[in-house]
Amino acid sequence: MTAPDRTAALELIDFIDASPSPWHAVASAEARLQKNGYTRLEEESRWQLAAGGRYYVVRGGASMIAFVQGSRPIAEAGFRIVGTHTDSPGFRVKPKAALAGDGIARLAVEVYGGPILATFTDRDLSLAGRVVLRTAASQATRLLRFERPLLRLPNLAIHMNRDVNEQGLKLNKQTELPLILGQLGEGDDAEAQLRKLLADAVQADSNHAGSADLLSWELAVYDVQKGCLWGANEEFIASRQLDNLASCYAALTALIATEQPAATCVTALFDHEEVGSESAAGAGSSFITDVLARISAHAKLDEEDRQRAMARSFFISADMAHAYNPNFPNAYEPGHKVSVNGGPVIKTNSNQRYTTNAETAARFIGFCEKAGVPYQQYAHRSDLGCGSTIGPIVASQLGVASVDVGSPMWAMHSARESAGVHDHAYMIAALIAAFAS
Ligand SMILES: [Zn+2]
Repeated sequence: MTAPDRTAALELIDFIDASPSPWHAVASAEARLQKNGYTRLEEESRWQLAAGGRYYVVRGGASMIAFVQGSRPIAEAGFRIVGTHTDSPGFRVKPKAALAGDGIARLAVEVYGGPILATFTDRDLSLAGRVVLRTAASQATRLLRFERPLLRLPNLAIHMNRDVNEQGLKLNKQTELPLILGQLGEGDDAEAQLRKLLADAVQADSNHAGSADLLSWELAVYDVQKGCLWGANEEFIASRQLDNLASCYAALTALIATEQPAATCVTALFDHEEVGSESAAGAGSSFITDVLARISAHAKLDEEDRQRAMARSFFISADMAHAYNPNFPNAYEPGHKVSVNGGPVIKTNSNQRYTTNAETAARFIGFCEKAGVPYQQYAHRSDLGCGSTIGPIVASQLGVASVDVGSPMWAMHSARESAGVHDHAYMIAALIAAFAS
């Protein structure tokens, strides 16, 4: 293993550790951008953009678009855009979540996206997200995170579930997913206890009053175990949320490394991919078109030049890919087994679940060759439904040439996923080459 690859993988693990929810992911990205000279723009304010300037915009708390202005006119060079998503499948806490009974307090949760439910059992789970508080002036949103294990989904013992190894673990989403939060004494009010717990956690960070000031929340359940390197030569990464924080981090790293590009380079991190991207800030929203239109307006592009700019643009949708797992050979298309640590994967689906076409695939191959990294090609089995990602959604909005790529991984949507140490560095290098194109 080369030392830089290992360093990049360890940095990724730290980024994910600091990002237990999509709102935290944007905060982690923001901290990194600010350290590297990026200035925050507010959508509700008038923008002042300097030539060669570096900026970012946040919408909805968990979507972000960062960009660095290129030296060439936008109408001549277009945009180089990399899009990823900040959200991960799992559980979200319901608004009135406390359940009391049999001396136990439990938390009612909703399944968010498509997690492998069984992988969340017997893990050290906790809460992270954002809360809105009443303040003296009006209201304020605060990030909240419990570092310690707070919740658990205990398995049923095999003595009561004798077929579990033959049938798999099946969990009813309404009745068998509430998470155990604590024991209740005589007369204890589970709802009041939960609100106090949340209010105390926020108060540790800010000087706001008690649980009466807690107006609303969005809280994700996360596994507190930090990511690690594993394998005989520590060639693998294990962590929660590799899908898709690994791509977020690669796209951010590549953007930050792109100091004076010819084309205007953009990294877009979207919330809500796991639930279909249709939201005010998701990839299906106006966010990306609004930001590009505003950049174009500041560059004084008329409508014809704006369209020329889009025609010269390129969009890379970066989301994780399915690596071949030798224990399940029949799950894969035999001609398209992609390997962990085999390099970025170009994903193709003629039914347009991925945006890749011959020309855009070739263009991405060119970036890999320029960066000196290997690449792989993936197609799903024809008798299995293919997943999708933000690629087709953004491509159909922008109408620009697009490709779907991603680093190979195992156990997508597990509470703890695996990927390759080298692949992370390869993807960063390929995206740097794309931004330089
Ligand atoms: Zn994904």
